Amino acid sequence: MPRSHAALPRLFVAPDLAAGAQLTLGKEQSLYLAAVLRKSVGDDVVLFNGRDGAWLCRLVGDSKKSVVLELVEQIAGQTPRSELWYGFAPLKTERLDYVIQKAVEMGAGTIQPVLTRFTQVSRLKHERLVANAIEAAEQCEVLAVPTVEQEVTLERLLDGWPAERALIFADEGEASSSPVTALEGLRGRPVGLLIGPEGGFADEERARLRALPYVVPVSLGPRILRADTAAVAALAVIQAIIGDWR
Ligand code: SAM
Repeated sequence: MPRSHAALPRLFVAPDLAAGAQLTLGKEQSLYLAAVLRKSVGDDVVLFNGRDGAWLCRLVGDSKKSVVLELVEQIAGQTPRSELWYGFAPLKTERLDYVIQKAVEMGAGTIQPVLTRFTQVSRLKHERLVANAIEAAEQCEVLAVPTVEQEVTLERLLDGWPAERALIFADEGEASSSPVTALEGLRGRPVGLLIGPEGGFADEERARLRALPYVVPVSLGPRILRADTAAVAALAVIQAIIGDWR
């Protein structure tokens, strides 16, 4: 994304994006642009839809109920969704919003809530998780919004896990060691990361995970991290060693 457009508001929309097309925004996005950001005719914004890259657009109508935009030019080609799979035991509301946003910023392409024995939250508002993922994608200039899956139990997840994908298991019971060697060995393979709940993994869950051939237990150091801290720490280590930070 050209840095010259970095200061422009970025909005995720559903319709196709093509040169010369006009697009009328819905009430919420119109209010945000016209009332909150006080954008008016002649101002520029960036739109993306997850398929057609990023487009520079110009306001040609600035009603607070229905802003009209004209598409000027494509400023970034569409990039593929990240291969990085991120599974986590859902946390209570605000921290759940936080964990979704951080997973997007840290480059996860699939976000999978996993219900484990000690997970404290069982019913999730999927549309809220999706809205958080879209908002984070708008902010961090991700062009392919990560997929947010419906929650699944750990058993179901493991029963259907594709063996070619390594599952990096953040195991607070693992002796403190550097994850570098374990992760280096996964270079070039599709990987997933699994973070447990505030109550950690149950003994039988840890035993089942550690017995699976595609599971790679890693330590995140000598201290017990809160689940949302562990998520960011683990994603950072993965991206730095075998991911897209290199
Ligand atoms: N049982 C503790 C508790 O009740 O707070 C720890 C659970 S911890 C908050 C949540 C998750 O973060 C763990 O299940 C694990 O996936 C990850 N985690 C936290 N600290 C870790 C560490 N030092 N090494 C590996 N994973 C860690």
